[in-house]
Amino acid sequence: MYNQSEFGNLENYLLEKKSFKKTSCEHTLNTYVFTGEVELKKHRFKKFSLLLINTYDEKALEILSKFFFLLCITIALVTIINFLGNDIADWFYILGIVFSLIPLIISLCIQNVLEYYQDTFCKKCGNKLACEEVGEPIMKETSSFGDYTLTVTRHWKCRYCGNVDTRESSENIFAEQGEMLPAVSLKGIECRKCGGIGTIVETKRPDIKEIGKKRLTRRYYNCTLCDHEDISESEEITFHGTHTG
Ligand SMILES: [Zn+2]
Ligand SMILES: [Zn+2]
Ligand SMILES: [Zn+2]
Repeated sequence: MYNQSEFGNLENYLLEKKSFKKTSCEHTLNTYVFTGEVELKKHRFKKFSLLLINTYDEKALEILSKFFFLLCITIALVTIINFLGNDIADWFYILGIVFSLIPLIISLCIQNVLEYYQDTFCKKCGNKLACEEVGEPIMKETSSFGDYTLTVTRHWKCRYCGNVDTRESSENIFAEQGEMLPAVSLKGIECRKCGGIGTIVETKRPDIKEIGKKRLTRRYYNCTLCDHEDISESEEITFHGTHTG
């Protein structure tokens, strides 16, 4: 175990996620397990979702989402084929791109609606728009020498039958092991416990996760002199939007 101050930036991160609650770390021989509280799930475009869910069932929403996705690909292909084939005007090309993006956006919106549908659907009594999130959602991270995984556990209570469903998911949070720092970059670092300089080594590959626009890197250090373990988490803002949580 290590004390709370060693979390550094992780504390700030959790503060922002919610008023500070305890995060704990447990490690057995080769595996570190971090558990901490996170925020209740926020659904976007709620009114739009309610409207669609009241009108369509799950199957219809899935079909709609697929239809718009295929429409996007079709328009994009037609545009490309025309572009390669003839001397088409630039405006046609630009128009094709714009018209292929619109169904893509619609498809992604419906995906979002589907998520809301699944979150609020009660599997026990079969009512839609029935469940509400209750209790405290917990994020659990497991990091070993070869693997890093992350899951979020949430509780959903049905307002019709009272059933509480506990669901675990990775919530599409990007999580992977990164690369260790070159040994040279640790040369000037001082051990926080014994003050030894150049005695710190990185013991395993870092954990990297992306939540929203934040990319958090957790590194594991050990002092070769006093055996002090230091786990630090730092964040940086990412500007690419490829994997958002
Ligand atoms: Zn520990
Ligand atoms: Zn129910
Ligand atoms: Zn030391």
